Amino acid sequence: MKDIFQTLKHHYGYDSFRPGQKELIEAILNGKDALGVMPTGGGKSVCYQIPAIIMDGLTLVVSPLISLMKDQVDALQTMGIKAAYLNSQLSYTDQRVIMEEAKRGELDLLYVSPERLGNHQFMSYASSWKLDLIAVDEAHCVSQWGHDFRPSYQRIPELMEVLPTRPVFAAFTATATKTVQNDMIDQLHMNNPFKHIASFDRPNLYFSVVKPKKKANHLLSTLDKKESSIIYCNTRKTVDKVYKLLIKKGYPATSYHAGISTEERSQNQEAFLYDKKPIMVATNAFGMGIDKSNVRKVIHYNMPLDMESYYQEAGRAGRDGAPSEAILFYSAQDIITNTMLIEQGNSPHARKNLNTMISYCKTGNCLRKTILKYFDQEVEWKKCEYCSNCDGETVVTDITVESQKILSCIYRMRQSYGAGLITDVLRGKDNKRIKQLGFDELSTYGLMSEYTDGDIKDMIAIMLSEGYLKLSGDSYPIIKFTPQTNDLLQAEATLSIRKKLKQEPVAKHKTIENIENIENYDEKLYEELRVLRKELAQEDGKPPFMVF
Ligand code: ADP
Ligand code: MG
Ligand code: ZN
Repeated sequence: MKDIFQTLKHHYGYDSFRPGQKELIEAILNGKDALGVMPTGGGKSVCYQIPAIIMDGLTLVVSPLISLMKDQVDALQTMGIKAAYLNSQLSYTDQRVIMEEAKRGELDLLYVSPERLGNHQFMSYASSWKLDLIAVDEAHCVSQWGHDFRPSYQRIPELMEVLPTRPVFAAFTATATKTVQNDMIDQLHMNNPFKHIASFDRPNLYFSVVKPKKKANHLLSTLDKKESSIIYCNTRKTVDKVYKLLIKKGYPATSYHAGISTEERSQNQEAFLYDKKPIMVATNAFGMGIDKSNVRKVIHYNMPLDMESYYQEAGRAGRDGAPSEAILFYSAQDIITNTMLIEQGNSPHARKNLNTMISYCKTGNCLRKTILKYFDQEVEWKKCEYCSNCDGETVVTDITVESQKILSCIYRMRQSYGAGLITDVLRGKDNKRIKQLGFDELSTYGLMSEYTDGDIKDMIAIMLSEGYLKLSGDSYPIIKFTPQTNDLLQAEATLSIRKKLKQEPVAKHKTIENIENIENYDEKLYEELRVLRKELAQEDGKPPFMVF
């Protein structure tokens, strides 16, 4: 068997493996299934290409993007590797020629799209090949929990049924939470795979979130004409608008979205890749498989729909390891637009995914830590010192006490109303509905009269997105407690928000440390929570929260 180091050096010209590559390659060569979760640009291709070169038989690579297959195969061929691809753009004869080559054992690698697996002729050919390895690229597409579900990926296991012997199975992706990882293993029928899950941290990326008054102006002041940047927008219309603006202001920009002709799209992509036009304005149609190392800024002009897409797109900055930025612009309008979008679609996890994004935009905690926590990677630090929440550029306010007031009010209102009415009661508004319901008698009526409606709603939104509250109800959303609510009431968890509240909050930058402290701060709240605790204790016989 050829040495894996020699193969790396001979075909690729590299002297050493990147983290995880050697282990994954060895596992595959030992006949073990393998799962590689590695960042974009981490070098996943090598992990199945080297085994493909070394093993006798054929490696089938399932890859989602027809447009990338040709480039990948061309690159392999120039490296002296026997590779081919099959897709619907090839003539019937050419497809046959390639499948015959595979049958004669003349190929090391064959790239196919997942849709191919539904094709009868392909399936009957496949059963005649000596297939050693099936490598699934962008394997998160198999999971409904992922951000890019493609039903055709779920057909991959059908291929196993027609094969005389089971090949080794290897799956690769750049983004997968634990849930998605496990689902990938199940859906692909993988057999106790060897796993390499790389750290998701990108230390050279500075993360920031801004809520600009005027996005266009902010963009112009953020961009540098000499630096390569990608600006992601949520619609084609916005891409066109931003692109026109940049051209008018003399920026070397180009654009990319599905509404632009194929020919023009590939011209624009080239212009960007070779730095003729270093600024790309695009929808999320742009970027998968793009390997440009000197992108200094990835700017999201709109809030994305989920964290996985966000991190994948943002991760296109700074692949060369040099300091780079991932900047997210968001507005209240983005939240509304995105909510509408997910309501039109029918993805069961869209709401949860969007809440994660909202929470990322509003959190006062370290952005990097927030991202890594989403990907189930715990980190030791509280501050990374390299994100906009850690370096003190924005005002971060502790809202633990405020959130307790809100919880208290929700409880008083029997967990039966929406954010609007809760806010009105807390602000002590004088309206008919409140009077009819007798809520002006509640001890929480007017408890937060010094805050604006917007501030209270923002606080409710962040409690919702962090799981301290949930929405239920069919006709209109009712806000209820969750099992986590108690953590906040007990001040075991703290909550902060990234903005200056209109009114200086009572317990600014203070978490609840002791009774005296809080008592002096806010007698009314103390009294309120004392009564609430007593009442709840009577309800189910045990003291539910130990706030003070
Ligand atoms: P991914 O699919 O994980 O995003 P690729 O497989 O496209 O990443 O690899 C990204 C780049 O890294 C490619 O240019 C590849 O040739 C290069 N690369 C891969 N492995 C190594 C290595 N061991 N040493 C140096 N460069 C590598
Ligand atoms: Mg790849
Ligand atoms: Zn940080």
